[in-house]
Amino acid sequence: MTEPDLSLELSSARMRGLVAAAMDRIVKHIETLPRQPAVNVEGAADVARRAIEPLPESGRPFEELVDLLFDEYVPKSFTTPGPGYLAYIPGGGIFHAAVADLMSNAFNRYVGVWAAAPALAQLEATTVSWLCGIMGYPPGARGVLTTGGSVANGSAIVTARRVWLPENFLSGTLYASDQTHHSVAKAAVLAGFPAGHVRSISTDAQFRIRPEELRRRIRDDRKAGLTPFMIVGNAGTTNTGAVDDLDALADVAARERLWFHVDAAYGGFFMLTDRGRRAMAGIERSDSLSLDPHKGMFLPYGTGSLLVRDGEALKRAHSMHADYLPGMQEDPEFVDFCELSPELSRGFRGLRLWLPLKMDGIGPFRRNLDEKLDLTEWITAELRKLPGIEIVAGPQLSIVAFRLVRQGADLNDLNRRFLDRINARKRVYLTATTVRGSFVLRVCVLSFRTHLDRMKQGLEDIKAALAEKSLLA
Ligand SMILES: *Cc1c(COP(=O)(O)O)cnc(C)c1O
Repeated sequence: MTEPDLSLELSSARMRGLVAAAMDRIVKHIETLPRQPAVNVEGAADVARRAIEPLPESGRPFEELVDLLFDEYVPKSFTTPGPGYLAYIPGGGIFHAAVADLMSNAFNRYVGVWAAAPALAQLEATTVSWLCGIMGYPPGARGVLTTGGSVANGSAIVTARRVWLPENFLSGTLYASDQTHHSVAKAAVLAGFPAGHVRSISTDAQFRIRPEELRRRIRDDRKAGLTPFMIVGNAGTTNTGAVDDLDALADVAARERLWFHVDAAYGGFFMLTDRGRRAMAGIERSDSLSLDPHKGMFLPYGTGSLLVRDGEALKRAHSMHADYLPGMQEDPEFVDFCELSPELSRGFRGLRLWLPLKMDGIGPFRRNLDEKLDLTEWITAELRKLPGIEIVAGPQLSIVAFRLVRQGADLNDLNRRFLDRINARKRVYLTATTVRGSFVLRVCVLSFRTHLDRMKQGLEDIKAALAEKSLLA
């Protein structure tokens, strides 16, 4: 008989010691975030190469490993949790959620099936129902927490496919604007559709889908013997923050009898604000929607959500029997998450959302989101004052896209250099995108750590980059 190795069961002193040592580094790290560079990836590939190493047979001291992480690996990155991160889509990562993860990983209960931890499964289900309420969904709605928006879009497409199309679904076509996040096309292909069956519908001057073209393409596809089954609307595109006319899309979907999904991964939580609710009117008429609490609820990465208006449809799409599982809930009050998603075993994501909401209520989230809308309006007004700056897409939520225009210059090249010079100051980190062939800079304000002081620094850095003689050379 092999001697038991008890070293994986830590003593109470060791547990406390680990958490205390880690916490020391964590708190220092978070407190210095405002002073950390907004981006710091020079030489990062060399550091990454040092992380390639053989499997160790025996261990190293914890302190040494924590030092390696916080001194070497963590700093070589985009400072995504920092106040200057105005790139892609920020989120920040509220600390209560990290503590929730520590607890849920420590008690390690199983929430994939209701029977294994009924109260915890219900805690997560309740949290999801709060999200449904924020979005204006009726009581029969159900949903799941996913690892992110891409996975949520994927499950939405599979659900629509299973509910609306026969088992042989290859004639199915789906529709989304040319501004739609690539995760939608990716999910459609992974769900088995030919890539060409994801119809890209053109957009108007505000980058919103053209409903007339959408209707025409649906009619044409029907005439060609195809089976239109799904429209995907945007509640905040990643490119420019555009919000499609969701009411118009809901009308088309109703008339054409199609599933209406809304990708609200970036913009959805602005439904907590008056301005957001006005911009996204009609979102509550969708059949399903994707959210990213790791963006608009400022959670750490790893939390998305799919909500489905008809909870039974989500269940019909995912429910499957297995002899070795405990009995599933017949009681409509309760939910077995494995019957609503592709996952069986998984982490207890509910706690990282439930704990902050129970500790703080929704108020601070609403006020933070309102502040982000204000900050985006503020920077847009300031940018408009700068000579040569063109606002390519004014804010519909908290993204503004702009570029520098100079007669006779190669504008894409000029704006690439403009972006580099702003980011070189390392107080803010902006990213760019290409819209209609133009390279444009974006400011995306969504972190709970970003306030007016940092926005002012960002504006200073934009002005300083503009003033650099060599920019135009
Ligand atoms: C971020 C985003 C996604 C993808 O979500 P992940 O959480 O990164 O998987 C999809 N759609 C939109 C509009 C997004 O902003």
